[in-house]
Amino acid sequence: MQHPLPIPGTGCDVLVVGAGRGARFGGAKQYASLAGVPVFRRSLQAFLGHGGLRKVVPVIHADDQVPFAETAAGLAVAAPVTGGASRQQSVRNGLEALAADPPALVLIHDAARPFVSAALIERVIGALATADGAIPAMALSDTIKRVDAAGLVAATVPRDALVRAQTPQGFRYGAILAAHRAAAHLDLTDDAAVLEHAGGTVMTVLGDDANRKITTPEDLARMTDALMETRTGHGFDAHRFIAGDAVMLCGVRVPHTARLLGHSDADVALHAATDAILGAIGAGDIGLHFPPSDPSYRHAPSERFLAHAMQLVRARGGELVNLDITIICERPKIGPHRAAMVAEVARIAGVSPARVSVKATTTEGMGFTGRAEGIAAQASATVRLAV
Ligand code: MG
Repeated sequence: MQHPLPIPGTGCDVLVVGAGRGARFGGAKQYASLAGVPVFRRSLQAFLGHGGLRKVVPVIHADDQVPFAETAAGLAVAAPVTGGASRQQSVRNGLEALAADPPALVLIHDAARPFVSAALIERVIGALATADGAIPAMALSDTIKRVDAAGLVAATVPRDALVRAQTPQGFRYGAILAAHRAAAHLDLTDDAAVLEHAGGTVMTVLGDDANRKITTPEDLARMTDALMETRTGHGFDAHRFIAGDAVMLCGVRVPHTARLLGHSDADVALHAATDAILGAIGAGDIGLHFPPSDPSYRHAPSERFLAHAMQLVRARGGELVNLDITIICERPKIGPHRAAMVAEVARIAGVSPARVSVKATTTEGMGFTGRAEGIAAQASATVRLAV
């Protein structure tokens, strides 16, 4: 770290504090998936990605060893410190754990703020050149009212001198450790308040609107929305008739005077649907994932292919918005089977039937489908995907 520091210790460590139970969230929100990646993991990655920090030290709840290990798998973080009964106690435990190899500076961050930027980290560290503590602060845009117990407005509070405090809050390590030790009997809501109580100076730097804290499930839903983009994909397939007594279409066996030739069960509609989904997520085509040269797919039910494509979507934190399939043939008649086809595709894809459409058309006697040489299918898929 290129920082002139007339203070003991070397470098800057960060405590990422995720030891709470999430009463307002209804569970440990730091382990919730945010577009496919746990909130806690995103927060740790933000600090690891900065590159200038000495150690990234998670502080976790005593019961969370297993979920934390899964959440942080493969990340170059320090061994987690076990938190305490309150946030203040958890931070204290984290600070004490650094004492054997003390840093010059320490950042203390809420695990539930996954979008801290490198620029914000720099601003906080930079302010510690002239203060014991530094916090990111945001101006208030709403008018602030003081209300009484009955909900009546008692006063309008001038907001010019008020800010909202975010994290990471940065401190000279020796100062914040001493302040926490002296404040053990108090219940303060952030670490700057602990330092203030000890008489330390706390600077504000500009916060970041994106650096929001997840408190409720609605917060998580809004952040998820912000991370998702909409993609569409298209699929087409055709199979020829051979002698037989039924065709598989959209996972439904439809009696007919022929069957479709194919390596798998030749469900031309599910093949088009699978390719549409693979196309939407840029994951190649059905032949790439299930090579016809592989004998294990011989006569395989095509629902495997669609289910696999949906797994890929979900692995990327995505979801299927809708799937629209058009079957092109003169015979068999699709209408009587359409509801069953919609239900079956929805079941395989793991979505509501309202997100699936199955249509059919003929080509009025023209072309290979018109001559009843086979059946073709087209599909388009819309997915929402984490960027
Ligand atoms: Mg095919």
